[in-house]
Amino acid sequence: MKLLVPIKWVVDYQLRVRVREDGSGVDASGLKMSMNPFDEIALEEAVRLRESGIARELVVVSCGTAASQETLRTALAMGADRAVLIETDVLLQPLAVAKLLKTLAQRELPQLVIMGKQAIDDDANQTAQMLAAMLGWPQATFASKLQVTGTTAIVSREIDGGLETLELSLPAVVSADLRLNTPRYASLPNVMKARRAPIECLPAAGLGVDLQPRLTTVRVSAPQPRPAGVRVDSVEALAARLREALGMGGEA
Ligand code: AMP
Repeated sequence: MKLLVPIKWVVDYQLRVRVREDGSGVDASGLKMSMNPFDEIALEEAVRLRESGIARELVVVSCGTAASQETLRTALAMGADRAVLIETDVLLQPLAVAKLLKTLAQRELPQLVIMGKQAIDDDANQTAQMLAAMLGWPQATFASKLQVTGTTAIVSREIDGGLETLELSLPAVVSADLRLNTPRYASLPNVMKARRAPIECLPAAGLGVDLQPRLTTVRVSAPQPRPAGVRVDSVEALAARLREALGMGGEA
């Protein structure tokens, strides 16, 4: 079985981004970038399937600028067999990414695409769903457990009030939620080896895919700054402050 894991290179989750003064977006220039955290989880799951012998090959793909190769090298160090960069300088929206991934999926013919449930920069949560729809494959989003047999995938999903278990016939698309696993750190020898590994670069322009954006960002604004906290001396004083805040008067 072949697995395909799409990986996005995003501003590191530990950094605070600044909104540009003109409200046109966030200023990511000069910031440390890293693998989208949900993609790390998707990759870890795929590496486990590869190690258990259920999968025979694990291919990772990133769509973006040449610099995104760095995240593919991290993926190779974590255990991917092969990496593909679909290269473009165009700022990609989820629909364009889904179209590019569809083209690659039709070339690679994976039995399972495992991807993040969302990218932490656009928080779109759209690409997996659109990819599955365009391929005409079953999908299970927000997976918290995944079992794969030769022809099916059993996926548990956390839903309001419990767990839902789905059975999908392969090929299929699964998107990973936080609780699916804890990703490993790549070992130093593997990081060194991945530095020299070949990465296949496919120019997006040659794939015949319309990358035109369909959405226009009207405005991005920073969250309101939080008012400073207030320290009170006793539970009674706290209760009085809460009553006051709720318009119930300061006295019990
Ligand atoms: P989104 O729909 O943008 O929230 O992204 C959901 C998932 O789609 C991510 O977790 C990735 O697995 C995949 N994805 C999004 N953008 C890219 C990209 N530029 N290259 C590769 N995979 C991507």
